[in-house]
Amino acid sequence: MKIIWAEQALTAEGWAKDVRLEIGTDGRIADIQTNQRPDGHKVGTLLPAPANSHSHAFQRAMAGLTESRGTNVTDSFWTWRQLMFRFLDALTPDQVEAIAALVQMEMLEAGFATNVEFHYLHHQPGGMPYDNLGEMAERIAAAAEISGIGLTLLPVHYQFGGCDQRPLGPGQIRFGNDAEQFARLVGEAREALETLPADSVLGVAPHSLRAVGQNVLRGAADLVPDGPVHLHLAEQLPEVEEVLANWHARPVEWALENLPIDSRWCLIHLTQMLPHETEALAKTGAVAGLCPLTEASLGDGIFDAVRWMDADGRISIGSDSNIRISLAEELRQLDTSQRLRDHSRAALATTEHSTGRRLLDAISAGGGQAAGRGSGRLEVGAWADLLALDTSHFDLAELQGDTQLDSFVFAGDNTMIADVWSAGRHMVQQGRHIHRDEITKAYRKAVKPLRDGL
Ligand code: ZN
Repeated sequence: MKIIWAEQALTAEGWAKDVRLEIGTDGRIADIQTNQRPDGHKVGTLLPAPANSHSHAFQRAMAGLTESRGTNVTDSFWTWRQLMFRFLDALTPDQVEAIAALVQMEMLEAGFATNVEFHYLHHQPGGMPYDNLGEMAERIAAAAEISGIGLTLLPVHYQFGGCDQRPLGPGQIRFGNDAEQFARLVGEAREALETLPADSVLGVAPHSLRAVGQNVLRGAADLVPDGPVHLHLAEQLPEVEEVLANWHARPVEWALENLPIDSRWCLIHLTQMLPHETEALAKTGAVAGLCPLTEASLGDGIFDAVRWMDADGRISIGSDSNIRISLAEELRQLDTSQRLRDHSRAALATTEHSTGRRLLDAISAGGGQAAGRGSGRLEVGAWADLLALDTSHFDLAELQGDTQLDSFVFAGDNTMIADVWSAGRHMVQQGRHIHRDEITKAYRKAVKPLRDGL
């Protein structure tokens, strides 16, 4: 039994003062009492720590390295794709494990309790499976054992190079599986998670409408009947045009018509939707898995959060390419993108709740749903996924309640995070992951050969 005492806490019922929270030996919240005397580990402001609902861990090693252009002026993805292919010709299981551990450490230090890993790097360079088909899934799980993050592992099904079912290109050859091999891979991923604490979750992810056949999309939810189902959907204009040309419907229109979308589903990006698609998809109960920093970095477009949230749509935040891992910056980017498009201010606030409060409430609930973890609120029985803000920080001191959350989201960054627990594991203390030194050392060693060739 661990005890935390907070000056204020955002409980499932709202703000409370002088809160004493007990974490049971099973990693769940065992008790919450308000108006209590200081006791145990003392913190300033205690919040639910949301899940990071979308990540491709290995892309972290490319952060900052793809910001120049090639000579082909029409292809602004050129440097990104070129480096991605070079990485995909080289990455070893040891490197993937070290990079994933660093990503998970950074997620925890940014306030996220869970890594939902959209895991598609399965095979050897050249495309041959490893002798152990689940090698890479085991490495992601091994990273979670080091970092202590809650892991929701989503083995990704990838079959084709496009909607016309062309073969995989050289940059995709390590991702591919036919239906039979993918089913075995899901079994191996399930076994890999058995080495982790009880809060780990197995889900499944058909990559996108471009990368798998329609029968795979229709049957995806049956592969892991109790887990979350994630799918990249409507990210870029060329994707919309390709689906329209081949399947005679826009991606979201096709998905609404053909897939059993409900609260188990998380649709990633949704940056290319028409208003009627936004409103209809919001009503399914699925989560919109938003990655505002990556979507901005890749020039994807702007998700219509105003219309989606007005239609009671659910949202979560993911760091996707991991070019930058920051909860505050993701939420700020999400809100400011709406302002830039609509020439507005406080675009996502309501008359009851400020922007920061509404967004943190939404992504805590939506992230818990998308992770299949049912976390995201401070109440007895939920996983103890907790985040403590450092209220001695000069931008937070003397502030209370929703105003303090707004300062964190709009004036803050990771330096305001004091402590983070994932299912009761106290991995970030005084703003620093407890295994930071060993994790960064292994990361430096892993990326050195990748960088030597740049
Ligand atoms: Zn993605």
